[in-house]
Amino acid sequence: MNNCQSCGFQRKDSEKKCPQCGSFYLTIAELIAEEVAYEEKNSFLGQCKRILFSNNIKDELLVKLGQFNADLTKKGMFTIFLMIAFIFALLLSVL
Ligand SMILES: [Zn+2]
Repeated sequence: MNNCQSCGFQRKDSEKKCPQCGSFYLTIAELIAEEVAYEEKNSFLGQCKRILFSNNIKDELLVKLGQFNADLTKKGMFTIFLMIAFIFALLLSVL
């Protein structure tokens, strides 16, 4: 938990403004940090990190896989099929 930068009043994470002195908690640096955290949370790497550091890696992975399957549209399947076909064709031309 952080304290208010102006008066030292103990702040809650949900509060944006100090109830003691009325100054806003979020500085530009904090806003950027929040943005970075949000980006990381939603990036592929961030999601991998979350899985790695979670208490139950197996469950987390299963949930992610379920989401991944749900996200796969027909277009996505077609793209993957094209990629596999392309790699296969490349392999054939080399051999
Ligand atoms: Zn304050």
